Amino acid sequence: MRKKLLLGNWKMNKTPAEAKEFALAAGEMVDFAVAHDIEVGVAPTFVCLTTVKENINPKCIVAAQNCNEHASGAYTGEVSIGMLKACGISWVILGHSERREYNGETSEACNAKIKALLANDMVPVYCCGESLETFDKGETKKWVAEQIRTGLAGLTPEEAAKVVIAYEPIWAIGTGRSASKEIAEDTIGFIRRTLRELFGNVAVDMRILYGGSVKPTNVREYMSAEDIDGALVGGASLDPVSYKGLIEGMVA
Ligand code: PEP
Repeated sequence: MRKKLLLGNWKMNKTPAEAKEFALAAGEMVDFAVAHDIEVGVAPTFVCLTTVKENINPKCIVAAQNCNEHASGAYTGEVSIGMLKACGISWVILGHSERREYNGETSEACNAKIKALLANDMVPVYCCGESLETFDKGETKKWVAEQIRTGLAGLTPEEAAKVVIAYEPIWAIGTGRSASKEIAEDTIGFIRRTLRELFGNVAVDMRILYGGSVKPTNVREYMSAEDIDGALVGGASLDPVSYKGLIEGMVA
């Protein structure tokens, strides 16, 4: 049985003071989610991780939005997995389309980070998704399959089982144009079949999230799809009232 997961991606938003305000406001809603068997989390910027971790309900996952695969050294501007662990962080989002576009993060680079995270008992949330051009050409599945094969290359089934996948069509991120439930369901079903080809039966228990303009008003529809195990949410995760609406929408 796959537990539903709501993960808020705060991107480059909130100062530590603003992040603390959210963290303090989130206590009861996290309890409400957990009581309904839903895992919830937020992914603040690096500078807010400690503040959020120290002030939020401990049942809430606090994730980073990136990491470096090297243990330490001359990597200016980077943050290591050991540093995140020292801050009590054990989840990391990787391969978000914004990082792929603006920071040149490739599926190969994500693969190295995923391996390093798993070696440190951390949970990678690996994002995949196609551009509008690829979608319009009808090549979504080919594109996403390649991202999955490369990002998860060399993992054992036991390792793959620990990875959370997020399918986020780029044309739906921050645009207000969400993918229909049918499109999300179709691609996520395909991703699960691809994972099954690669890793066998563990794919049945792997969590695959949908992301792209998910809001309190449409989250319930996605959650009614058999293969969709939760949501990775950007804009609508920033405000505690909206975040609460997302949780309420996820409760069956
Ligand atoms: C995201 O940042 O992963 C995302 C899905 O953003 P939004 O919900 O704003 O489309």
